Amino acid sequence: SLIVPPDHPRYYSLLYRERIVEKAKEGVVVLQGLIAHGRGEAFDYMMGERTTPAALKAEKAAVALLKLAKHPVISVNGNLAALVPREIVMLSKALNAPLEVNLFYRSEERAKRIADLLKAHGAEEVLWKPDAEIEGLSSERRKVTRRGIASADVVLVALEDGDRTEALKRVGKKVIAIDLNPFSRTARMADITIVDNVIRAIPNMIKFAEEMSEEECKRTLEDFDNSLNLRESAKYLKEWVQRMIEEL
Ligand code: ATP
Ligand code: MG
Repeated sequence: SLIVPPDHPRYYSLLYRERIVEKAKEGVVVLQGLIAHGRGEAFDYMMGERTTPAALKAEKAAVALLKLAKHPVISVNGNLAALVPREIVMLSKALNAPLEVNLFYRSEERAKRIADLLKAHGAEEVLWKPDAEIEGLSSERRKVTRRGIASADVVLVALEDGDRTEALKRVGKKVIAIDLNPFSRTARMADITIVDNVIRAIPNMIKFAEEMSEEECKRTLEDFDNSLNLRESAKYLKEWVQRMIEEL
């Protein structure tokens, strides 16, 4: 595959673009996933391809909620598995939260392939054989496992679609979404919205998961206001656009 020159100003963006294309060729990511990635890249570009202070706060609050949960679950799709396989396994272990494969463009083969990829990166168990459904959702994403998402109280999702976020909320779950678009339905509907690239969000969350005490988790959640935080995230976009216009 193509070697990305490390001195390129947008090295990481190109590196992850290569990685996701490779995973599309292997059948882990669908072609529609490449389009979703491109949409993410556009927002990331306008956020300066960095974790904003607001995003870091949301990441900390998300870990607090996951640590205080009775049965937290990490929902994994093709893009997430392709971009940060090792890291989601580490986060799963640090939080004691199972990994469950959940796909919009679902096939048995792809679900298994994603589970195998995660196992190759150290996952002891991956839930990928659905035996339950989320009510009021018609897409393939309704298919869940009883031991996983069906019985979860808190679900972490990334690159999600608004429909499932809404359905998960309706059946009483708390949803944490990682989504670079602060205006998506997912972003607006989640209990905690992390406006950051998963490639930075997940490693930050691993660190918080390892460091935070129960006391700190409680305090962090008390101080966190998602709609305020979401607005703060969106303001970075606005400021970036303003700055760029002035430079033209
Ligand atoms: P909604 O129904 O919630 O409005 P959508 O259907 O418009 O969402 P999709 O294109 O299906 O959204 O989902 C992709 C979302 O994930 C986009 O909002 C995109 O910005 C975001 N995204 C893409 N890549 C990443 C990434 N690497 N990290 C975080 N978010 C990402
Ligand atoms: Mg959608």
